This record gives sequence, structure tokens and C-alpha cells, in this order.
Amino acid sequence: MIGGVIVGLLLSSAGGADLRPDADGTVTERAVWFFDLFGSTVFIGALKMIVAPLIFFSILHGITSLPTSGELWSIGGKTLAYYFTTTSVAVVIGLVLVLTIQPGMRGDRDAIRAKKEQNLAEFGKKTDRIESARDASAWETVKQNLERTIRNPFRALAEANSLAIIFFALLLGIALVAIGDKGRPVIPVLDGANAAIMKVTSWIMVGAPFFIFCLVASLIAQEGSRIFALLGWYVITVIAGIALHVLFLLAVCKFVGKRSPIEFLKGIRRPWMIAFSTRSSAATLPVTMDAVDKELKVPRKIGDFVLPLGATINMDGTALYEGVAIIFLLQLFGGLPGAPADLTFVMTLVIFLTAVLASIGAAAVPDAGLITMVLVANAIGLDPEYIPVVFGVDAFLDMFRTSTNVMGDAVGCVVVSRLEGAESGSG
Ligand code: ASP
Repeated sequence: MIGGVIVGLLLSSAGGADLRPDADGTVTERAVWFFDLFGSTVFIGALKMIVAPLIFFSILHGITSLPTSGELWSIGGKTLAYYFTTTSVAVVIGLVLVLTIQPGMRGDRDAIRAKKEQNLAEFGKKTDRIESARDASAWETVKQNLERTIRNPFRALAEANSLAIIFFALLLGIALVAIGDKGRPVIPVLDGANAAIMKVTSWIMVGAPFFIFCLVASLIAQEGSRIFALLGWYVITVIAGIALHVLFLLAVCKFVGKRSPIEFLKGIRRPWMIAFSTRSSAATLPVTMDAVDKELKVPRKIGDFVLPLGATINMDGTALYEGVAIIFLLQLFGGLPGAPADLTFVMTLVIFLTAVLASIGAAAVPDAGLITMVLVANAIGLDPEYIPVVFGVDAFLDMFRTSTNVMGDAVGCVVVSRLEGAESGSG
């Protein structure tokens, strides 16, 4: 990772602003092309290749290895309670920081306000994605998510649509247990399939150091020089929020999960690094499952269930980010057309609720949080056309929020396993 940062910065300073992919071919661009070949096409491609069957088999395996259906409800209830609580805390941390630091009132505020049109043109490509999500109201988002969840499972597997895969695997798993003896022969098959997929994961991980180098070098070479140019205070606020939330998660790990934070950090260093460089919780999932099982020694029946669900709906870093970003934009553009001049208490509450919802709805892929941010903007009457202003630093911040998303899932496993153990009396 450090090697990637150094090489990326060297390439970035060599090529300056012309390094964006639409510029003419330069040495740096060709290097970036090769970094992407190994980092994105080979590494992220390989992780994505196994993620859909992995989610399917691990949820089925998780459910069918639970001794009673009561245990499923107990683990499920604790998992959802943990996810909701920690995501809410993340948003509150973000809101308190952005309202205290006020990044939108600092730095070159007037320059950015004046250059609004130019910013929009510069990030035009991604602006199209914002445009297509523009009409998303809260109810429309709920409907869209239901449509994504209840659908042909083969199509869901082909599209790696994790919500639908989880839903179908849950149903099938409960049915397998419900039919008793008839379902029993299938269970060892699921166990074997699951173990084989984890083996493939470990093979992919052999090349991880090199692949991570490529991913980081490519990103820094393309974005490095622009990161702190205009949005320094905003970047600082998001990273400070993420740092505080990580401390909170470690405290939860220690006091609720009864696990030493140092031991925990050592155990999750691999998934953390993969999340940081791939910027996708879904692509990281195989590695997270492996680490939680082998390093943190959380029982498989818990990890198999808590982690795929967490990678899909539990995104603390994303939730924190959405709240900070929207208030930052309000501070920056408040008073201009389509941007409310004042932030009221009710608006803050609406931002809190919609940021939690938007993080649940965000797909576990790079940049997903940017798109669901439209939901938060719409809810408080902020024109989504202001959102592209933060695009320039988004990929960089996505590294921090994705690694925090993954860490939140892993702490969830430790906590749920501790609570389950305490309940059954085994400590
Ligand atoms: N990239 C994040 C993830 O995969 C989602 C986001 O864009 O915030 O967890």
C-alpha cells in the first residue's frame, strides 16, 4: 500500500492534471492502464467472481448449522439491533463534527461558489448518474429495494445482487430445516461447497500485496494531486469522523464483545486493507469471512450469517459520510438557487434518518454512497446538481468509509458471538 502511494504520487506529479483517463496517452496513463489490468480486472474481478456463490452458500450453511430456529431469530435480532445502533452513532458523530468544524464555511468558499458551473462540467460523466437518481423519494427507494430483493434467484446470482441472494438463501435455508429428514442430506453438500469457495479465496489472496500496490498506485496517480486542492477541510472532517467512529467501534469491541482491540485489529488487518484498496465491501467479503473465522475465531454459524448481511446493509462509514457531505454542501451553497439558506433542527433530523436509510440502500461497490446521497439531498430540498462538487475527492474518501464499513461488520460478529455465548452460558 505504501509502495502504491509513493509510485502513485510520483506518477501524479509527473503528469499533473492531464492524468485523467480522457487525456491523451502519456507514460503515466499507460502505467495506470497496467495497474488497472492487475488491480481491477484481475483482482477485483476474481473477488467479485466468488462473491455471489459465497453469499448464497454461506447463508444457507449458516442457517442449516443452527440447532434451533429460535437461535436464528436470536442472532438475527441482535445483528440488526447492533447494525442499527452503530450506524446511528456514526451519523451522529459525522453531524456533530461537520456542524462544529464547518468545513463549508472555510477555505475558498467564494471561489467554489463562483466556479459552480465549471465544477459541474469537470465531473460531467458522473453527473449523469446523479441525474438518473434525481427523482428518488424515500418511498420510491423502498419500492426499488423491494423490487431488487424479491426476484428470480438465478438472475440475482448472475447479477451478484446480494439483497436478493440473501433473501432467497434465507427462505431456502429455513425451508431446508423445516422439512427435517428430507433436507438433511443436502446440508453436508452446502458445507463442502462453502469450504471450497473459501479455498479459492485463499488462492486469490496469494497475490494480494501486488494487487493492492496496483490499485493504490492507480488511484493516487489519477486523483492524488487534486485531493487537497479545494476540499481540504471537507476531507479532514470526514477522516476525523471516521477516526472517531473507529475508536467507538473498538470500544464496543472491548466492552461489549470483551475482545482486546489490539487482538481485533491484528485479526482484521487483511480485510481492512483489501477494503481500503478495492473500495468495495462486497469484493472484500470473502476475505472478511476468512479472517473472522480463522483469526478472530468467531463461530462459523455466526459469521456466515452476520457478515453477508452486514456487507449488504451495514455501512457505518457511508452513513457518516452522507450526513457530512450534505451539510457541507448546504454550508457551501446555502442561499444559492435550489439550496436552502438555513439548516433547521427538523432538517438535521431528516438528514439523520435519510443518511441511515441511504447507507442501507447503498450497494457495496465503489462510489455507491454518492448515488444514494441524492435521496438525502432530495429529502431536505437541496438540488442534487450540487453533489458533483465533492466527486473529486470521493474515491479517496471511499477508501476510508469502505474499510470502516467492513470493520463495523467484523465488530458485529464479535459482539453477536459474545452475546450468544453469554446467553448459552459458554462465555
Ligand atoms: N464503497 C462502499 C462500500 O462498498 C459504499 C460507498 O460508496 O460508501 O462499502
